[in-house]
Amino acid sequence: MTENPKVTLADGPPVTPEHCELRANGRKKGSARPLRYRYVHEKCSSVTTLGAPIADIYSIRPGFYRTAFCARCGAHFPVGERGEFVWEGTSEKVGT
Ligand SMILES: [Zn+2]
Repeated sequence: MTENPKVTLADGPPVTPEHCELRANGRKKGSARPLRYRYVHEKCSSVTTLGAPIADIYSIRPGFYRTAFCARCGAHFPVGERGEFVWEGTSEKVGT
């Protein structure tokens, strides 16, 4: 019996078919945003490093995720215009 283990990104939600498709198609079209791997949780000022698959998604479709993980807090918090995260070294909100 083969079990299909759920692949989970180190710091994100499970990898879904949509996720994989988005990465494949998004790359073909070329991304409008730079690839960024580090963001700051404004509430605690700590930096969390993203896994490459998630950085990909943010680059291709910034609004894909509603929350982001803070490694220090150990929990997910909102992203977007009123979210709690900015890309490291910028004032640009994650997810916008
Ligand atoms: Zn935090």
